[in-house]
Amino acid sequence: MKGNRAVIMRWVSSATLEMTMDLLTPKIADITGEGLSLSGDVTAEELELDEADAVLRGPLAVGLDLRAVEGTVCVTGVVEGTAVRECVRCLKDFEEPIAFSVRVAYEREVKAAPGPVRRDDGRKKPAVAEDAPEELNDDIYHYAGDHLELAPMLREQLILAAPMHPLCKDECLGLCPHCGKDLNEGPCQCADEPAGGPFQVLRKLKQKHE
Ligand SMILES: [Zn+2]
Ligand SMILES: [Zn+2]
Repeated sequence: MKGNRAVIMRWVSSATLEMTMDLLTPKIADITGEGLSLSGDVTAEELELDEADAVLRGPLAVGLDLRAVEGTVCVTGVVEGTAVRECVRCLKDFEEPIAFSVRVAYEREVKAAPGPVRRDDGRKKPAVAEDAPEELNDDIYHYAGDHLELAPMLREQLILAAPMHPLCKDECLGLCPHCGKDLNEGPCQCADEPAGGPFQVLRKLKQKHE
């Protein structure tokens, strides 16, 4: 009996794994002009997310629509979840909702063919495609083989969506630069003590003007 149960549990977990694998590595053949919708949870491990990049609380909910147009796959959708960030003022960890939209395109990676390439179709092709301006807002990724790799793209989009200066709250008072006390928890003693410090000078100036 014990053995049976172990087998069933292993089967269940590998089935779940496979689903996530498909979510992050959809087959090109499954993506048609009509589109393919993918949705599911993705963990930080599956995205190979470094803790220095972002820390997640729980998995991300990912919902993506993929549509193929002449070899280019357009990917749109939303990513939601919860991040744990460190406040730049008080250095405390706090949770912040993540919600951003994705709008990228995957193009087939063009590998330089070995040896000389013969282009003898009799006429010159306009060079437009080659120096196509990067006017598109979409971020361009590349695929090779028979499936897309969505994990690196999601990881990058997640990092791009993160705030440069996370704040636990707009009015966070931060730490006292002298004693390090978290001023959100109340004032420290520093203000009373040092004579001639920059704050003392400012206070004197202020008093003069009053
Ligand atoms: Zn703070
Ligand atoms: Zn202080």
